[in-house]
Amino acid sequence: MGSSAGIVYLVGAGPGDPGLLTRRGADVLARAEVVVYDHLANPGLLRLAPRGALLVCAGKSSGHCTLEQSQINDLLAEHASDGRTVVRLKGGDPFVFGRGGEEAEHLARLGVRFEVVPGVTAGIGAAAYAGIPVTHRAMASAVAFVTGHNDPEAAEERRTPDAGKAGLDWEALARFPGTLVVYMGVTRLPAIARTLLRHGKDPDTPAAVVQSGTTASQRVVTGSLATIAEEARRAAIRPPALLVVGQVVGRREAIAWFESLPLSGQRIVVTRPEGDAARSAAMLEAMGAEALIAPTIEVGPMPEGETGPLDAAISRLAEYDWLVFTSANGVRFFLDRLLAHGRDLRALGSLSLAAIGPATAAALESYHLRADLIPAEFRSEALAQALAERAAGCRILLARADRGRVVLREELSRLATVDQVAVYRNGDASVVPAAVLDRIAEGSVDWITLSSSAMAERLHGVLPEEARARIRGGYPRLASISPVTSGAIARLGWPVAAEASTYTWDGLVQAIVAVVSDGRQRPDLPPPVSAAP
Ligand code: SAH
Repeated sequence: MGSSAGIVYLVGAGPGDPGLLTRRGADVLARAEVVVYDHLANPGLLRLAPRGALLVCAGKSSGHCTLEQSQINDLLAEHASDGRTVVRLKGGDPFVFGRGGEEAEHLARLGVRFEVVPGVTAGIGAAAYAGIPVTHRAMASAVAFVTGHNDPEAAEERRTPDAGKAGLDWEALARFPGTLVVYMGVTRLPAIARTLLRHGKDPDTPAAVVQSGTTASQRVVTGSLATIAEEARRAAIRPPALLVVGQVVGRREAIAWFESLPLSGQRIVVTRPEGDAARSAAMLEAMGAEALIAPTIEVGPMPEGETGPLDAAISRLAEYDWLVFTSANGVRFFLDRLLAHGRDLRALGSLSLAAIGPATAAALESYHLRADLIPAEFRSEALAQALAERAAGCRILLARADRGRVVLREELSRLATVDQVAVYRNGDASVVPAAVLDRIAEGSVDWITLSSSAMAERLHGVLPEEARARIRGGYPRLASISPVTSGAIARLGWPVAAEASTYTWDGLVQAIVAVVSDGRQRPDLPPPVSAAP
């Protein structure tokens, strides 16, 4: 054992927000052949692993997939000994209450190579997203990370303080001049608070409980050491949650920033195809939302044997006056094929370029091409109208997907010579992530974004009836990119809660923001509360 090239990376996934994974963590995940992950690690991070990597849920806590620690140790060692690159993905930091130390020791004993990639521990990350600085020059020069796993009262009664080993000296903690951050203590909050009070800690010390910090489900309850247990009980706080005790909790009022982001607290499903989905999710996350990616359609190059018309069009480019793109994917697949032919941008030298909207124009820009025409409204009818003014009597090549609306061609052929060519394949996704569909069915999703009719239809097709009915009932809410997509959604019998007024992804996000902020300004209307994850 141990002589092979295998390695285990003990990686901290951070407290929840996928953006808090380190770059080194993302880098090793991208090379993983096996990923063994805890339930506290954000499942969205698994998308960073290569397709085909073996994903093993190690559970830990209530989850349905629970492995014993010894099984986890063996699993890591076996895969690495077989020469594989293994990522052990753990919530927060692997060495902070994560048994990462034990796993590393086990590997060291067996001579299995390993490296540690630290992560943002919940005590720092969740506190920061709650607006609590764990240290502060004026009020806390030290911070203690404490486990609340064991009942302090029972331990003190037994008078078997295994101090010096792993036991806790609550008397010393009560005197500790700094911030106390207690992990794993939700179920023991009353006992922990009583114990600190009994040892003389000031009952007025500010205290907070942060549940699911850094995620869309983040909840924060504040009070004093004397009241916090009752406050948390009343708010039905559940794990994972942290208790923070100290003057710094008072800073939250001024600092809390995460909860005021425009989409904070919103769990949003992105149904766009793979590459677009990742970019779209990042945008939602930057606005405070939690994004769940479930591509309902797949795009790709035209299959072998079906590229004839595209290749012919490319070889006859000089015969056209206008080249018209109706999607960013159209631009990418067309130009990739052109380049694959051994040609370059000069092949487009004599052509005018039209783009249906800003995303398509941006795709052209990425090839250093500028659109000569973008309609004022980003849809086929408007593009046809704009072209009617500029391209009447011209020869137009329409580069598009192998399925979709035919409006543009019909409108254009009244006034120009139009050849339409399929430059990429747009098909239903063969599998839509079951985990996300389950979340929709159980009602723990706030929004589903739909940016084409095909996506709406595919989603309808893969959802169980229970989930379809939920959507019919108005929650989760649907956000549509345009009236055309809204029409398709309506035909499925579903209501649309937000429709973009500019028919772009940005427009769609703005429409969601408007509905969310409207709901926040009218607290008299009870916001539909999503069930617990
Ligand atoms: N290694 C992890 C901690 C594992 S122990 C880390 O460094 O963060 C699990 C405990 O961490 C939970 O019981 C809870 O107290 C805390 N925790 C983890 N994620 C959390 C989150 N998003 N919000 C609040 N507390 C969290």
